Amino acid sequence: MATSNTPAVHATPEVVVPAISGRQVLPWLLLLALVAVIAVYFVGAEQGATSLFSGTAIHEWTHDGRHLLGFPCH
Ligand SMILES: [Zn+2]
Repeated sequence: MATSNTPAVHATPEVVVPAISGRQVLPWLLLLALVAVIAVYFVGAEQGATSLFSGTAIHEWTHDGRHLLGFPCH
């Protein structure tokens, strides 16, 4: 129980947001862009003349994504 001589202590949490420079973020953005380009390639262009792998396995695995993203399919 607080008496009149002891002040009430109100702890305020201090949130420190670290400063992140663009130079630190750039490699992650490049990696994300590369992964996105590869994903879009496999979903949208891994078929027919642009196919890197023979067979239709990759096309079948990404088939629903093709239709979801509006790529021409069949
Ligand atoms: Zn289709």
